[in-house]
Amino acid sequence: MSTLDITEQPDLSKRPATPNGKPHVLIVGAGLAGLMLALLLEKADIPYQIFERAAKIRPLGSALSLGANILPVFEQLGLLEEIERISLPVYEQKLYDGNMKNIGSMTMREYKEFTGYDTFIFARPRLYEVMFDRVPAEKVFMNRKVLALEQNHLGVMIRCNDGSQYHGDILIGADGAYSSVRQALYKKMLAKNVLPKSDNESLAPSFVTTVGVTDPVDPEKYPALRESTVNFSQVIGGQLMSWGTLTIPDNRICWGASLQLTSETESKEQQFRNSEWGPESIESSLALFRDCRVPIGGTLGDLMDATPKDLISKVYLEEKLFETWHYGRTALAGDACHKMLLSAGQGAVNAMQDAVVLANVIYDLESTTQEAIEAAFLDYRTQRYPHAKYQYINSKLVSKLMTGQVKRYFLS
Ligand SMILES: Cc1cc2nc3c(=O)[nH]c(=O)nc-3n(C[C@H](O)[C@H](O)[C@H](O)COP(=O)(O)OP(=O)(O)OC[C@H]3O[C@@H](n4cnc5c(N)ncnc54)[C@H](O)[C@@H]3O)c2cc1C
Repeated sequence: MSTLDITEQPDLSKRPATPNGKPHVLIVGAGLAGLMLALLLEKADIPYQIFERAAKIRPLGSALSLGANILPVFEQLGLLEEIERISLPVYEQKLYDGNMKNIGSMTMREYKEFTGYDTFIFARPRLYEVMFDRVPAEKVFMNRKVLALEQNHLGVMIRCNDGSQYHGDILIGADGAYSSVRQALYKKMLAKNVLPKSDNESLAPSFVTTVGVTDPVDPEKYPALRESTVNFSQVIGGQLMSWGTLTIPDNRICWGASLQLTSETESKEQQFRNSEWGPESIESSLALFRDCRVPIGGTLGDLMDATPKDLISKVYLEEKLFETWHYGRTALAGDACHKMLLSAGQGAVNAMQDAVVLANVIYDLESTTQEAIEAAFLDYRTQRYPHAKYQYINSKLVSKLMTGQVKRYFLS
């Protein structure tokens, strides 16, 4: 994404008037981090606007899971029942080799006893709908790709692709792994020589993953759909390939297939490279995995055929934990500051945990001066960074396990 420098010095004090000296928050990106922050600010009665580059929401993505480390927030927002309605609890994940031989399992049966919450699995688009529908329409600006930002001691300003400008006290970049806000912020920091060297290095992809959710399929063909809990199986297929399926309500099956990138596979895939989640260039992946058998019955090709083509998405999965999470009046959240590998949604949970801590520090602000905001953001990073680092390492390990790069960890 190209960043555009704002050359004139705009009047950054032009932010909308807010009641009781509360800060006005601009959120870039209506992904799960941005939406969670919006819901929490709404509840705290803190003024905000949210800007999303997509003209309309595309229901992309496969299975995500939510457990005890984020469900209490949904409970406080009055959304726990909605989550239960769209999901099934998961108690076990089984691992298979390419010949459909069970080679191990991970159990999550005791989680509820220890934490008070089951772990739930659902299709990402359903969670997205639940959250998006709760944000007041007048606060969401679709089709606004943020291209540039400017900030000083008076306020912060963004400019969008249509030339529109918005002012606020605080800017949150929740705009995903290729965050424009991060790029614009880091460019300014680089010019001032205050950006850590590692933050200027690009993300390195480890896997290319293709995912989808089938339309309702026949339980006669897939008897596991009759179970009241998630049937979760992952196949370590060899030749750098792994794939998995998860059952969800309404007789649907989430599926995903990953190819580990090495110098050999990378060169074949390079020509199709597209860094965002999307239905583009999926044909090579579909062909590669089509004949792979799945423990739930049949082949991955059967599941691909039961999935609308435009809802199958492919993404190059990168991993990176950025050191710089905030500068001046701007902070980053979610994939914009820590990109984790896909493991049924560690990225999503961490993104929403960022939003929770950000909402808390913004709520506690006693003034909207730059000093007060910088102190709040420092508090945010201090609280979140160690957890994100732990999850980053953990997600790396789980991904390795699920793709056959670690043989003995967790295996029974
Ligand atoms: C379409 C899609 C499908 C996904 N499917 C899965 C999945 O199946 N399994 C899984 O584990 N994870 C999936 N993810 C990733 C997962 O949602 C994220 O890792 C996690 O939720 C972190 O969320 P985030 O809000 O930080 O970033 P994201 O979910 O990436 O959201 C960022 C948002 O910012 C918007 N945006 C980007 N640039 C700009 C800009 N310049 N101006 C305005 N808006 C901008 C994007 O359109 C997007 O809506 C998917 C993400 C997307 C976007």
